[in-house]
Amino acid sequence: MFDGVDGVIECDVLVVGAGPAGAVAALYCAKNGLDTVLIEKNRGIGKHTKTKIDASPADEVTEIINELKLKTENLVHKSRWYSPDGNSFTLYSEIGEYYFKRGPDADSFECSTVDKALGEGCKLFINSTVKEVIKDRNKFERVVILNQAKETTVKPKIIIAADGRNSFFHRFVEKKIIKKKIVGYGVTGVNFVNPDVSEIYFDAELAPGGYFYMVTSLSGFSSAAIVLEESRLTRSVRTYFDEFISKNPEVQDKIKSSNSSFSGYGCIFRLPEHVSGNLIFVGNAGGLIDPFMGYGMMPAIVSGYYAGKYSVDAISKDDLSLLENYEMEVRKRFDNKSVYFYRRIFESLDNEDLNLVLKMTNQLDGRIDVDRFLHSRIYIKGLLCLSLIVISNLPRSALFILKIPFKLLKCS
Ligand SMILES: Cc1cc2nc3c(=O)[nH]c(=O)nc-3n(C[C@H](O)[C@H](O)[C@H](O)COP(=O)(O)OP(=O)(O)OC[C@H]3O[C@@H](n4cnc5c(N)ncnc54)[C@H](O)[C@@H]3O)c2cc1C
Repeated sequence: MFDGVDGVIECDVLVVGAGPAGAVAALYCAKNGLDTVLIEKNRGIGKHTKTKIDASPADEVTEIINELKLKTENLVHKSRWYSPDGNSFTLYSEIGEYYFKRGPDADSFECSTVDKALGEGCKLFINSTVKEVIKDRNKFERVVILNQAKETTVKPKIIIAADGRNSFFHRFVEKKIIKKKIVGYGVTGVNFVNPDVSEIYFDAELAPGGYFYMVTSLSGFSSAAIVLEESRLTRSVRTYFDEFISKNPEVQDKIKSSNSSFSGYGCIFRLPEHVSGNLIFVGNAGGLIDPFMGYGMMPAIVSGYYAGKYSVDAISKDDLSLLENYEMEVRKRFDNKSVYFYRRIFESLDNEDLNLVLKMTNQLDGRIDVDRFLHSRIYIKGLLCLSLIVISNLPRSALFILKIPFKLLKCS
């Protein structure tokens, strides 16, 4: 680990930001023989977030996790869904969701991944940030890194921007379109729920445009948080959290061992391009967050992995134009415009609607393979079942479907 050096260094890849996306990209590059430099603005890895558990769908990441031997807490297949009227049901998913420990502890996802990258020969500069970038036509030639008083000039063949939602490198691409700000507040403690099930609560009044969740890792370490759409809030996110638990005594009872809190926000935006010459955007810096639930871990890991993969490809074949394959990969995996539409529908639902939708989801489970229904674009059997369920819930569901266009118009 370096705490800044004066002078000039050359490398194949410079990764800026050692969060989950940058750590995975650096590990892939170093493991596959690239001369890799990773810089992090904080004095240590994971200091940009408090210790907590992030949960994220396992599809798309399982192979990467196995290949790079990335650290996860548990793989959970059951989730318990609560509707505003207090009803709940448990959904079983073959695919499941991974829990990741986040933060500055040595066993967090980012710390353990960076540690692996260092073991593969990656050089790490902490307490270092980008001061200046020198660009020649379409190529970013040099990056001046500032570490307190010391300046280091890095001459990379490729730059991977993994420096989060306010990336230094956004100034070099067309204006990003900010879609939404998702805010979160939560607490950590022990044994909030069983480690084999996540709990998710919906309530349009207590958690507008969002949800409340609780997860527990195999070690017993637990997180409970509220995640909300900022533009709909009339009070602080902390106040919503307190109100949610005060109106749900069984939740209050489950989290009584809480001992610390965390908060933060994520921006949902779209970059017109994720590759600009020899610059690649990954994770939050690329706006790669699931717009529906706000998951960022899966996109961070997947984009970090493919940024590494296509960098190795481009450098080994001495052809930077191959980086365009990364753009195609990102578009194929994350450019799903319909999710924004579903999110708008979700935000327009009141508690009566949510009770109905969750009741119908419960009926759907067991009749079809929900995993396949949620993850494939056209799944005829699922659509047929959904239609039958809608019909069997008439007239309430017909009214609900008729109401949607008016609600969407009211929202926009
Ligand atoms: C409260 C909250 C709860 C969340 N819960 C979940 C969840 O349950 N599941 C889930 O999937 N996602 C969750 N997310 C989202 C998830 O945390 C992010 O999407 C994920 O951290 C993205 O990883 P990243 O590496 O792209 O960016 P970041 O984690 O933001 O990492 C960026 C890194 O770059 C560094 N950096 C920034 N600027 C510079 C610079 N100029 N030079 C050098 N280094 C720099 C930062 O210090 C940091 O280390 C949550 C987010 C919040 C705020």
